[in-house]
Amino acid sequence: MTDTPTQLFIGGAWADAADGATMPVDDPATGEILCHVADAGPKDAKLAEEAAVQAQQEWGRTAPRVRSEILRRAYEIVIGRTDELAHLMTSEMGKPLAEARGEVAYAAEFFRWFSEEAVRVDGGYGTLPDGRNRMLLSRRPVGPCLLITPWNFPLAMGARKIGPAVAAGCTMVLKPAPQTPLSSLALAAILKEAGLPDGVLNVVTTSRAGEVCEPLLRGGRIRKLSFTGSTAVGRLLLAQSADAVVRTSMELGGNAPFVVFEDADLDKAVDGAMVAKMRNMGEACTAANRFFVHRSVAREFGRRLAERMGALVVGPGTRDGVDVGPLIGRTGRAKVEALVADAVERGARVLVGGRTPAGPGCFYPPTVLADVSPESRLMGTEIFGPVAAILTFDDEDEVVRRANDTPWGLVGYVFTEGLDRALRVSERLEVGMVGLNTGLVSNPAAPFGGVKQSGLGREGGRVGIDEFLEHQYLAIPVS
Ligand code: NAP
Repeated sequence: MTDTPTQLFIGGAWADAADGATMPVDDPATGEILCHVADAGPKDAKLAEEAAVQAQQEWGRTAPRVRSEILRRAYEIVIGRTDELAHLMTSEMGKPLAEARGEVAYAAEFFRWFSEEAVRVDGGYGTLPDGRNRMLLSRRPVGPCLLITPWNFPLAMGARKIGPAVAAGCTMVLKPAPQTPLSSLALAAILKEAGLPDGVLNVVTTSRAGEVCEPLLRGGRIRKLSFTGSTAVGRLLLAQSADAVVRTSMELGGNAPFVVFEDADLDKAVDGAMVAKMRNMGEACTAANRFFVHRSVAREFGRRLAERMGALVVGPGTRDGVDVGPLIGRTGRAKVEALVADAVERGARVLVGGRTPAGPGCFYPPTVLADVSPESRLMGTEIFGPVAAILTFDDEDEVVRRANDTPWGLVGYVFTEGLDRALRVSERLEVGMVGLNTGLVSNPAAPFGGVKQSGLGREGGRVGIDEFLEHQYLAIPVS
C-alpha cells in the first residue's frame, strides 16, 4: 500500500488536483479510511485531455510491434505482482483474496491477448465492380478515448479497455470509479514502467464524475467513449456523446436468467450456480439474477444450492478461508435487504441466509429464496448481492419467453444434457453470451458484451480491437 500512487497521472507525471482536493478511499470490510487520493476537477480533466490529444499523432504512428511489446511487458509485470495487486484490490473493493488473484490473472490476460492482436490489424486491396478503380483499405486508430470504469472489477475493467486502445494506437483518459481508484493508478504505474510513452494513458480519479466527463464528451476532441457501468448512466452518457457524435462502446447492466431443465445434471447446475451467483459476491453484471428451474427438479436444486451457499464463510476478504467478502457500500447492501424483504412479503421462502449480520463492514450472507413470485422487485433489477432467487417453470417455450422478458440481454445460463435443446434455447435467448452447462463466460479471447439495454459493442476477442479502429478507404483509379 505504501508505494501505491495516490495522485492524478497526466502526461506521464503524477500530480495533485489543481485545487488540491482529495477524496477518501474506504475499506468496505471495516468502513475505515485506507488513504486519500487526488480528487480531480474539470481543470485537471482538461489537462488530461490535452495530454492525450498531444500524444495521439505520434502514438498512432508507432510500429504495432512496439505497442505489442509494451503490452507484453505490462502483462509480465502484472503477473509478477499478483499478490501485491490482489491485496490492493481486496482492500479497496472487498473481494476475497483468491478472487482478487483470479482477477489479476484475468486483467493481465487482456494485455497479453491485445499484445498479440496489435500486430494482426489487417487491411485490404480490391478491384471495384467497374474493373478499373481499385480500393485500398487500412485501419486507423479512432483517436483520443475517454474510458470510464466501475468499481466491481477495478483491475480487469481498466485492462479490458486499455489493452485494445494501446494495441490500436489510441491515447486515453481513464476515469475509474471513486470507490476503487487505487487499482487504476497501480495499472498506470505499471504501464509507465512497461514503456508506455507519456500522455498515452492519463488517469483522473474524481468524486465529480459528471463535471469532469461531460465537458470532454461535448468538447469535440475526445473521439471515443468506452463505458462500463449501469444502464442508467450509460443512457445519460450516450445522450452527452450525441452532441459531438462521439463513437461509443457500452458495457452495461444485466439481469441474467439461469435456466435449469429437467434433464440437467444437477451437480453441474449447482456448481454453475455457485459461480454465476457468487463470483464477486454477486456484484457482477454477469451474475445470475433469476433462477428458472423446472418444477420437477426445483426442490432438489434449491436444497443443494442452499446447502452449498450456507457453507460459505463470510468475512474480510484478506482473511484466510473467507469465501464471501463485504458488499461495496451501505447503499448497495440496503438495496439487497429491501429486495429480499419485498420477495419474502410476496411469498418467497428463505432457504438460507436473509439476515444482515451486526457489526462493522458491509456484509450480507449468501441467501437462497425459493418460490419467488414473478412480481417480486428483484426480477426487474440487478440484485448485485449474494442472493439466489428461484422460480419454477413447466415448459421450454414458457421459460424462453420469461427469460427474455427484460430490457437487458447480457448473458444467460442454460443447463441441460440435451444438445438439441441446448442449441435451440441458446439461439432463442436474447443475450450476447450464453453459458452452456457452465456458470462462467468471461474470457479475454471471447467477445464480451450484451444486446438490448445491456450495451453496444464488444470487449475482448478478435473483435475487441475493432472498437478502437476506424476504416480508411483509398480510391485509386487505374487506367
Ligand atoms: P455506475 O454507477 O454506472 O458507475 C460506473 C462509472 O460511471 C463510475 O466510474 C461512475 O463514477 C461513472 N459515472 C457515473 N455517473 C457519471 C456521469 N454522469 N458522467 C461520467 N461518469 C459517470 O455503475 P457502478 O455502480 O460503478 O457499477 C455497477 C454497474 O456496472 C452494474 O450495472 C453492472 O452490471 C455494470 N457492469 C457492467 C459490466 C459489463 O461488462 N457489461 C461489467 C461490470 C459492471 P461515480 O461513481 O463517481 O458516479
